[in-house]
Amino acid sequence: MIGGVTREARRVRVTLALPFPNAPIEDELVRLIHEAVEPLAAEVDVEVETIVMDEERRRDFLEHARPQRRAPSSINVKHVLAVLSGKGGVGKSSVAGLLAGALQRRGLKAGVLDADITGPSIPKLFGVSQRPGGSPEGILPPETGTGIKLISINLMLQSEDEPVIWRGPMVGKAIEQFWQSVAWGELDYLIVDLPPGTSDAPLTVMQSLPVDGIILVTSPQDLAGMVVRKAANMARQLAVPLLGLVENMSYVECPECGARIEPFGPSRAEDTARHAGVGLLGRIPLDPRLAVMCDEGRIEEYQEMDFAAVVDEVLELTFEDTKRG
Ligand code: ADP
Repeated sequence: MIGGVTREARRVRVTLALPFPNAPIEDELVRLIHEAVEPLAAEVDVEVETIVMDEERRRDFLEHARPQRRAPSSINVKHVLAVLSGKGGVGKSSVAGLLAGALQRRGLKAGVLDADITGPSIPKLFGVSQRPGGSPEGILPPETGTGIKLISINLMLQSEDEPVIWRGPMVGKAIEQFWQSVAWGELDYLIVDLPPGTSDAPLTVMQSLPVDGIILVTSPQDLAGMVVRKAANMARQLAVPLLGLVENMSYVECPECGARIEPFGPSRAEDTARHAGVGLLGRIPLDPRLAVMCDEGRIEEYQEMDFAAVVDEVLELTFEDTKRG
């Protein structure tokens, strides 16, 4: 983070490059620099100038600064991606499910950890109701038709209609156990379906799981700007890269003429993403076919061009070179 050190007579000037403007650790770092440099010579005058890293440097920095994986050695998961939304019902779980389905279809091994403990919907999207099994290695996650490993509190309840009325710390504990006590085996991508909002639960996930990217889902109706900025700030403070924004239910394609209709008004996705300083991964349609497939537990079978482009982008941002096909 030290951009340079210059000295003129008794004046030492240190440039400190921060990953983001107003980084919460700025004051502490400035203090540490003073503490390190001042004892080096009598009566030096230390001046710290702070600058903000450019995009390339920030990427490099975050790559190195990422918290070490706190995974038991038995877990062999290459990438952990978390899917977050500001509120419920915008299609967060659907995007998580679609992403896992698409990755699996491309020959990668995917799993889904349903961290939306109080509103778990992942098993239903995949039509899975089998209870997790046990093994010496840990809890065995059931697999979907195409072999995606799933874990969700819903698979452990006596009845799927049973509500989960837990307080924050218990929710956090359950999520941690899903990560540590499940025999995930070898996975290329574990997709974590976070609870909506920027409350305690998503925070716990990001602190206790080695999340290496967040995907934000919004709908055109969202008070998107605020939500996106909040999520972006949370991600920055925790030094977790925000891979970008997906606008779900962005448009409807006319089955007769193929024209794109924007039932919720013109998309604000690009503006929202730009204002929050995050990339736009793509806009995906409101599609009755998807709604039906979700209801029937066949989300894995859904394929759509704009979403395929989102998957390409995610693979690129996470340095996987497996492309469409
Ligand atoms: P969230 O996880 O944000 O609460 P879900 O993914 O559970 O939202 O989606 C809510 C409902 O909306 C589901 O019934 C799903 O089938 C439907 N849905 C989500 N995205 C789309 C879409 N692009 N087109 C049609 N229906 C969708």
